[in-house]
Amino acid sequence: MAEKTAAQTAAEEAPAPPANLVATLADGTYVKRRSARQRACDEPKGKKICAGHLKRWYEAGGEVRSKFGPAVEVYRCERCLTLYLPNESETPRTGTLAY
Ligand SMILES: [Zn+2]
Repeated sequence: MAEKTAAQTAAEEAPAPPANLVATLADGTYVKRRSARQRACDEPKGKKICAGHLKRWYEAGGEVRSKFGPAVEVYRCERCLTLYLPNESETPRTGTLAY
């Protein structure tokens, strides 16, 4: 009887999910919620963090738009391509084009 519990198996297969994780796309891309004023990616990379810049991403694919709406404001890390949604406590930066 060497069966593992489901919790043990999950802990071995997947590292702890990142804080602020909102969703995971079919291709494994994380979609996370930005912390207030967050400007750089905080995905762990070994003992450091990725720290790539978060850029507004206008080419969000169908999966992102079907999950979060066609007008979703999405940012993407320029290094690891993790996606970020804006923090609710910040006003959208779409200016006069806001709708
Ligand atoms: Zn990154």
